[in-house]
Amino acid sequence: MYNFFVSENNRHGDYCYITDSDFNHIRNVLRMRIGDTFLVSDGKSSDLCRLEEFENEAAVAKIIERNFQNTELPVKIYLFQGLPKSDKMELIIQKAVELGVHEIIPVEMNRCVVKLDDKKRKSKIARWQSIAESAAKQSKRNKIPEVSDVISFRKAIEKSKELDLFIIPYENEKGMAATKDTLGKIRSGMSLGILIGPEGGFEEREIQAATGNGVETVSLGKRILRTETAAITAVGMCMLHIEMNVNGEKDEKVTD
Ligand code: SAH
Repeated sequence: MYNFFVSENNRHGDYCYITDSDFNHIRNVLRMRIGDTFLVSDGKSSDLCRLEEFENEAAVAKIIERNFQNTELPVKIYLFQGLPKSDKMELIIQKAVELGVHEIIPVEMNRCVVKLDDKKRKSKIARWQSIAESAAKQSKRNKIPEVSDVISFRKAIEKSKELDLFIIPYENEKGMAATKDTLGKIRSGMSLGILIGPEGGFEEREIQAATGNGVETVSLGKRILRTETAAITAVGMCMLHIEMNVNGEKDEKVTD
């Protein structure tokens, strides 16, 4: 969500007038359209605004919610989750959404016990999406994360190339150096993918295919975690690091 600072002089009732370089940015760089929303801040609190019209030298925005809290992380976390058994996916989705994930992508892997046919898959995704929606509401998220369609492992590795960072928590990885190193690379505005294996874990050749594509494996400590614990730990670890060390900056796009 973009955030613009507007002085008291440029606020009249429910309307804010965005001028000068921010006006140029909104109109010519971001090419915003009437109806687009963004935050307007006076330096203390932020109001959620909707773009109403362009005047000659100002973008006019209407306040639609005062003291709006932006609860989104300044980094988009994509959780690629190896399909687990029974209703574990529901728990993973609920917790990952609370922790601030941007999107959840179920992944079919060689050691997945569950195989979903077309009909089952569609109804599962609809159910998972509704779980994401309730978790987003409960945790006061500004956006509802998407649960995407189930994809293959190969597709997940292809998608990893579109993201700024991509990690695979892997129990055979020793030491915390790679984990620390990855966290240190996270910057505001980045996209970060995390791929968690199913109960049976990754096959050696899956790991080889991923690392051959430049993906890093990282450790989540010396114990073997269940798939749902690994997912929640990995997202939680990244969320806390981002909250503590990565700041959302002015004018930066942090959500859709
Ligand atoms: N193959 C293992 C366990 C798989 S655990 C076995 O059966 O012994 C499921 C997933 O959780 C793994 O694929 C991995 O992504 C993640 N995981 C579990 N413990 C981990 C750890 N200590 N470090 C990093 N990832 C871990």
